[in-house]
Amino acid sequence: FSSKEYQPLTESLAVTLAVKMRIFSENAVLSCSEIGDGNLNLVFRVTDTVTRQGIIIKQALPYAKVVGESWPLTLKRAKIEADALKIFGKIAPEYVPVVHFTDDVFAITVMDDLSHLSIARTGLIRGEKYPLLSKHLGEYLAKTLFFTSDFGVNQSEKKELQRQFINPELCKITEDLIFTDPFIDSPTNSFEPELRSAVESIWKDAELIFHVALLKKSFLTEGEALLHGDLHTGSVFANATETKVIDPEFAFYGPGGFDIGQVFANLLFQALANEEKIHEIQEHLETFWNVFVDQYSELWNTENQEPLSYAPGFFDAVIQKFFQDALGFAGCELIRRTIGLAHVADLDSIQDIDKRLLVKRKTIDLGKLLIKSKKEIHSIDDFIKVVVQTL
Ligand code: ADP
Ligand code: MG
Ligand code: MG
Ligand code: MG
Repeated sequence: FSSKEYQPLTESLAVTLAVKMRIFSENAVLSCSEIGDGNLNLVFRVTDTVTRQGIIIKQALPYAKVVGESWPLTLKRAKIEADALKIFGKIAPEYVPVVHFTDDVFAITVMDDLSHLSIARTGLIRGEKYPLLSKHLGEYLAKTLFFTSDFGVNQSEKKELQRQFINPELCKITEDLIFTDPFIDSPTNSFEPELRSAVESIWKDAELIFHVALLKKSFLTEGEALLHGDLHTGSVFANATETKVIDPEFAFYGPGGFDIGQVFANLLFQALANEEKIHEIQEHLETFWNVFVDQYSELWNTENQEPLSYAPGFFDAVIQKFFQDALGFAGCELIRRTIGLAHVADLDSIQDIDKRLLVKRKTIDLGKLLIKSKKEIHSIDDFIKVVVQTL
């Protein structure tokens, strides 16, 4: 392993690398397997076969694994991800894996092995309960969105961060796959033929497209805070007591409501796919939002760097904007995960075709409603009511 040039790791090269980095004791017997189930990267787990202690080596590939070598993708995203993990780790250490080592040439990040936890999406689909998941995500987002915004960091530092996280290539994926392609007849879209008329009604809905265009504009232009950028339940490890947020390779300065909306939508998939889970998901949505507002308010009152932040009504306006943006972005996520390129297992794993189509139609309807009617939904209670009416 002496090459100074990028090469994709193999399991045996990953072991060699772990030995070189002296992560394990000198005479440890190591085993390694590639465990990545994501779309874009390789993930190696190297374990000491005696102590069972492990480490994760994540490596970016120069193309998107899901599409193949025909979709080239910058290796710089490994540095973006590692830098974002370090920044989020400083702000909210309890919710972020520790980064031990990075190499920009090999596009690798070495981090804590979280194998004692489950990916929240997988666990939720299996029926596992995560009583603290929503509280933890509310705290995580309150802290990361506050301490990377102009309210929580000084002006020059924020501008420096914004420069560091321009991330044009990964933003382009979001711009296309979330905001553009699902709303036009694009070859990247993918849906059951039975959904075609529902999909065509999206493409013809001028009012809907108008609101999506405004949401996309806000994603393109608002540098409010350093976002995770891909905060779905597949980017969250959890068990009954712990929550860790991984995979921030899409991190960039954008509107805070985008991260909040992705959490909303990815919780909603569970309620849409399993009506009997509505109470569990309702609790998660309420807790997530209420904890977010409480924590953000606490930081606002104690840590605010904005001299005008005392202005009556300003805090409420900021929170209201987060909320309405989040509803709109959640609507886009609901639609793109149903008819766009990248789907979610919550919906696609429904075996009964009639039930799956019914759930997907409801998901599309809820998505449209949230995008168009976000201004009439004033509180988390209103939001829950709208969800319950759609089910
Ligand atoms: P991608 O960017 O390709 O989606 P992820 O960071 O989401 O990659 O990782 C893909 C998968 O690899 C995760 O779903 C999880 O199963 C595994 N994984 C990633 N990071 C860790 C970690 N720190 N500990 C244990 N498993 C991990
Ligand atoms: Mg991932
Ligand atoms: Mg994954
Ligand atoms: Mg990723």
